[in-house]
Amino acid sequence: PAAISLIGVGKSYPSGTQALDGLDLVVRQGEFLALLGPSGCGKSTALRIMAGLAAPSSGTVERHIGAADGASIGFVFQEPTLMPWARVAANVRLPLDLAGVGRAEARRRAEEMIERVGLAGFGRAYPRELSGGMRMRVSLARALVTRPHLLLMDEPFAALDEITRFRLNDDLLALRAAFGCTIAFVTHSTYESVYLADRIVVMSGRPGRVTDEIVVEAPGPRT
Ligand code: ADP
Ligand code: ADP
Repeated sequence: PAAISLIGVGKSYPSGTQALDGLDLVVRQGEFLALLGPSGCGKSTALRIMAGLAAPSSGTVERHIGAADGASIGFVFQEPTLMPWARVAANVRLPLDLAGVGRAEARRRAEEMIERVGLAGFGRAYPRELSGGMRMRVSLARALVTRPHLLLMDEPFAALDEITRFRLNDDLLALRAAFGCTIAFVTHSTYESVYLADRIVVMSGRPGRVTDEIVVEAPGPRT
């Protein structure tokens, strides 16, 4: 079954750029989907439309992921968009605070998630005191703290060095195994697609068109 379907979705920006033109794309329940394609082909636009962060100019978006509240979708941006004046724990807790979860419960859940992403003991640190990889871990914890049905990631580790990226990818596979949530992410790395995803949807050429689909055999953490 589908978690999210984009049906004939088009998107034109006010600048006149047509980013998507009749895109059909389904994210299936439980899968780890890579949306692969060259820079500028409309991947981010498609992801933002899935998340409800941008509106399509034409076509339909269907969501089948439980409550239509923001808590059912977690989003990770390419640059960790953390609040610089707030400690790690407060950054991770933010979606729970916004959802009206009680203070004690929110603190407990945030602390648990901080541990899950490998940052135990860093709850009281400020983002500027952390490395790029650690800040990305904070972003992941913030996206997962509501236990979303769907995690969307826009070139999440692209700004990090190769080794940090490699470690984060393995940790992401472990987090996915632990939470079992559906994940869709955007990348221009074939390597990362094959390493992480169950299914790869390839976009290229004309605006926002899918040109190929690849099913990856035996995905999962390499030990
Ligand atoms: P990708 O993620 O594959 O790099 P994007 O969805 O970011 O592709 O961009 C697709 C096209 O839309 C590009 O030509 C880009 O310059 C343009 N674009 C993206 N966001 C905006 C925006 N906010 N305003 C105007 N043009 C945009
Ligand atoms: P990551 O650990 O997210 O891959 P980096 O490799 O960029 O991030 O980490 C840079 C520095 O931060 C290293 O010196 C590393 O020892 C330290 N560091 C990263 N994660 C932790 C952690 N969980 N506990 C203690 N130190 C850490």
